[in-house]
Amino acid sequence: MKIYNTLTKRKEEFETIEPMKVRMYVCGPTVYDFIHIGNARPMIVFDSFRRYLSFLGYDVNYVSNFTDIDDKIINRANELGISSEELANRFIDECKKDMAGMNIMPATTHPLATKEIDGMIELIKGLVDKGYAYVGKDGTVYYDTTKFKEYGKLSHKNLDDLQSGFRDIKVTGEEDKKTSTDFVLWKPKKEGEPFWKSPWCDGRPGWHTECCVMAPKYCNGSLDIHAGGEDLVFPHHENEIAQYEPLHDTTYARYWMHNAFLNINNQKMSKSLGNFFTVRDVLTKFDGKVLRLFMLSTQYRAMLNFSFELMESSKASLERIENCVNNIKFTLKNKGINVAENSKLENIDDFNELIVDLKTSSDFSKEELAAFDKVCEYIKEYFDKLDDDFNTADAETQIYEIVRVANQNVNENSSIAFLNAMLLIIDTLLDILGIDLHNKTTQESDVDEALIEKMIQERTEAKKAKDYAKADEIRKKLLDMGIELEDTRQGVKWKKV
Ligand code: AMP
Ligand code: ZN
Repeated sequence: MKIYNTLTKRKEEFETIEPMKVRMYVCGPTVYDFIHIGNARPMIVFDSFRRYLSFLGYDVNYVSNFTDIDDKIINRANELGISSEELANRFIDECKKDMAGMNIMPATTHPLATKEIDGMIELIKGLVDKGYAYVGKDGTVYYDTTKFKEYGKLSHKNLDDLQSGFRDIKVTGEEDKKTSTDFVLWKPKKEGEPFWKSPWCDGRPGWHTECCVMAPKYCNGSLDIHAGGEDLVFPHHENEIAQYEPLHDTTYARYWMHNAFLNINNQKMSKSLGNFFTVRDVLTKFDGKVLRLFMLSTQYRAMLNFSFELMESSKASLERIENCVNNIKFTLKNKGINVAENSKLENIDDFNELIVDLKTSSDFSKEELAAFDKVCEYIKEYFDKLDDDFNTADAETQIYEIVRVANQNVNENSSIAFLNAMLLIIDTLLDILGIDLHNKTTQESDVDEALIEKMIQERTEAKKAKDYAKADEIRKKLLDMGIELEDTRQGVKWKKV
């Protein structure tokens, strides 16, 4: 598998520090409000990547923090007249609800910045002792960017360029800064702000120090993958490297993965521009599966424009897949096989073994064997695309192709083996992208399947009794509920419209 590494600007073969173990850290949100769907892009992309790594057999230690102390949190808490801690805890809970709505797996560890202050003080002490940091008159500690010769290596900028970019920026409270690119490691408290004791002054750490302490602590040293949105390359990630590497004499992270922005009208979605939709809002209108399908419909390093029209189009794509799967289940049910649960396989070796067996299955008809050959080509393409810098966009296309082949070949004469195989393949390929058709969301569970089945039964009985008016009335009632019926030789099929 190849992934694009921001550090080397190349696609590189993925090799882990420890065999078959992945240490992965993803910068999490600052919890001062509900998250917006721009924040959801790295969450969905890297959750899917994590799922794929697990599918490939890696044991993934996935760490993602919550930044629970920062100017925005303090300001918002003051506005609301509550403590920063109360505000942060509230929005951590809300963020976790949104993550569940998007089927994002909880991280192995979700560290909180405020619980790791001792480690941050230790790191800053180490940098001061080694001459990489200096203390200003008011107790502010600055990192000296001129001391780290490799400063700029991640963002591919040299110090002169970076300094000229900063020339006019004067930040109040940072008067003792020696060089414009130097950044704050520890800052003194202001009136009414939370603070911790330190050798330099009562205060709190800078943001860049937080991740740099939490990542190696919970990943057990250097990282295989450090990930986040592309706005974090500079200065956040550049500064993390600058703090870690001089103290440990080793690479901080081998692969740096950065997702491009989610835009609206070609402008980054952000709180400050006011052009955002919260995940909470979007999930009232669309299922989490639609949001995932939409987010993954573009490769993660390409800009993705958000619009409700595009979400509608992802919704239609999801419905096409759902209708195909429901049709397969319906056909199986008519053959006396009840498939209630997701039939996915969770490991690539099991999956490949099964596919190889099925290629020569004596249970398939000649036509099914031919159709299955085509499906195998799409499966191969699906994995080739994911192995090529996690190209989920082209991988999704292969699922649509498989659905097309299934639609062409599934009928009352299909063999049970073929139906089961198609179900398992579609379930498995979707599951890698975190899409579980069998996981009913609150929005969907409004569709009361038992009631629908009961109404269909009543309609069938009305038709038998030649009460066509009643039968039509039931059909219309169901349509008003968003359920369309189709009479087939095998019985009545229903689908959501
Ligand atoms: P923040 O809460 O601003 O620190 O952001 C949390 C994560 O969301 C970071 O990885 C950001 O890079 C990412 N992010 C924020 N806005 C967007 C956006 N519009 N598109 C993609 N990623 C974003
Ligand atoms: Zn971070």
